[in-house]
Amino acid sequence: MSCPSGKYQYLSQDLAETALIDQHIYKGFAPHEGPQNVYECQTCGHWHLTSKASERSARLQKMIDSGELKKKQEASKWERLF
Ligand SMILES: [Zn+2]
Repeated sequence: MSCPSGKYQYLSQDLAETALIDQHIYKGFAPHEGPQNVYECQTCGHWHLTSKASERSARLQKMIDSGELKKKQEASKWERLF
């Protein structure tokens, strides 16, 4: 079943958060850009990404704080060049 929100559905919070972080890596978002968190949809029962969260996903925040996100973004930039 697809969701009336039209958003991509993830089967678990873990998968949604992984996708959230992947988007930040591959699209090279600044921390405040792009989706910020995940939420369990009341309509379809799956998980979606949201850019309107008041709080950033703890997993994403940790990647930003540790500098790991920046490192992975740099690495993915190089991968795209070759
Ligand atoms: Zn939904």
